[in-house]
Amino acid sequence: MYTDSRDREVWLLKQLWTGQPVTCPKCGGARLTPLHRKAKKSDCDWKCPACGEAYRTIRMLKELPEK
Ligand SMILES: [Zn+2]
Repeated sequence: MYTDSRDREVWLLKQLWTGQPVTCPKCGGARLTPLHRKAKKSDCDWKCPACGEAYRTIRMLKELPEK
């Protein structure tokens, strides 16, 4: 996980999937940008231009802990 709680992680996923601006939870230095700018389906993978961390939402969803 990239955040410190399941609720935060779910919130982060929702923000990314709906295209809301999200500040990198790891470094806090920049807003996340789509990893694949040219692809129309660009809302699955994101990255932080400041620290370079990649956020792959499909993997994040799979790795969510059980409630
Ligand atoms: Zn970052």
